[in-house]
Amino acid sequence: MVRVEEAEKIILQQCKDFETEIISFDNCLGRVLAENIIADRDLPAFDRVTMDGIAINHEAFRNGERSFKIKATQSAGEKPIDIDADDECIEIMTGAVLPSTTDTVIPYEEIEIKDGIATVKTERPLIHQNIHSKGKDKKQNEILVEANQFITPAIIAIAATVGKTSLLVKKNPAIVIISTGDELIEIDETPTAFQIRRSNGYTLRAVLQQHGLRADIQHLPDDQKIILEKLEYSINNYDIILLTGGVSMGKFDYIPSALENLRVKKLFHKVQQRPGKPFWFGSHQNGALVFAFPGNPVSSFMCLYRYFLPWLRISWQVKTDKNFAILNENLTFKPSLQYFLQVKLQNNEKGILLASPVEGNGSGDFTNLLQTDAFMELPLEKVDFKKGEVFPIWVFKQIL
Ligand code: AMP
Ligand code: MG
Repeated sequence: MVRVEEAEKIILQQCKDFETEIISFDNCLGRVLAENIIADRDLPAFDRVTMDGIAINHEAFRNGERSFKIKATQSAGEKPIDIDADDECIEIMTGAVLPSTTDTVIPYEEIEIKDGIATVKTERPLIHQNIHSKGKDKKQNEILVEANQFITPAIIAIAATVGKTSLLVKKNPAIVIISTGDELIEIDETPTAFQIRRSNGYTLRAVLQQHGLRADIQHLPDDQKIILEKLEYSINNYDIILLTGGVSMGKFDYIPSALENLRVKKLFHKVQQRPGKPFWFGSHQNGALVFAFPGNPVSSFMCLYRYFLPWLRISWQVKTDKNFAILNENLTFKPSLQYFLQVKLQNNEKGILLASPVEGNGSGDFTNLLQTDAFMELPLEKVDFKKGEVFPIWVFKQIL
């Protein structure tokens, strides 16, 4: 049996490079960017007018001029129109280029227009006001977005702005989720009194979907021969095999021996944790990695968040910060296991993240996941956990 930190270390030593591919930028949301996005020109690309109104030369105003003859009207997208004299102005729209003979934009709200003359009503137009000046945000050739991060809507905005119609992204691994167990039937079948529908595969796949990943699903009976045959196929055809069930001490838990028969090297079996103690992890020389999670629904779910997703992010070289919250109740946990406590998260009025325990009925009680937002990882060394103490959390439901 290994400790949680050791299990994590062993898993992270198996990080992989999944190479890259180029895809259309509008299919990139949630993928991992594999190139820097560079400014093809200054941002903004020109002195951009930010209010509808008139453009004047501020010096004229300082010299006492208050009425300006409207020489022309310039809309966004038009070539700039210069004034010829200081008592002239250009009626100008948001998004237009500021004419080089002007330096100040006064909005409609602060002028009065009559017979082609705009009279300024405000006493203090500031020079350069209502102008978003060229290159103020970023300069041409500057890096706008660094590689190795998830592509967000804001990154899509940047890609569109600089005309990147396709982006280099990290490839996703080929994943298969395999559940095992004779008691488990397909979800559209009617269970007998001693059967249940198999839910884990769909749960794990849904979590992966939330992270932009696809996965095939399979189910195997507790039959050594079939397990061997099907696992061999998966080892040869997928990068990642996520198993759920069949890794404990039961008479029909054939997975560990089958994996070892197929020369998947065991890197650990059993982690000093609750839930998820029977977790088995190994690698095959062809590169396939096997995360064999215990079948209890909460165990599989927790192990996916605690071990698989961090492994994936580090393989993609995406930097992620650990999250923490404050325990909001006293709690005692005696077993010599690192406890992943289910908690409900709430931001209090001071903006502090509080975690209230909702323990449920153990690792088989997946209805409790509906009431909770995260696992709080309580250190192995302690038995008594006090309200107000801070511990890491693994969030599975976004609360904001
Ligand atoms: P096992 O790890 O195979 O001993 O399974 C532990 C418990 O989880 C048993 O009660 C199983 O019936 C249950 N279980 C295993 N796999 C699934 C699954 N795919 N969906 C729902 N429950 C499961
Ligand atoms: Mg089983």
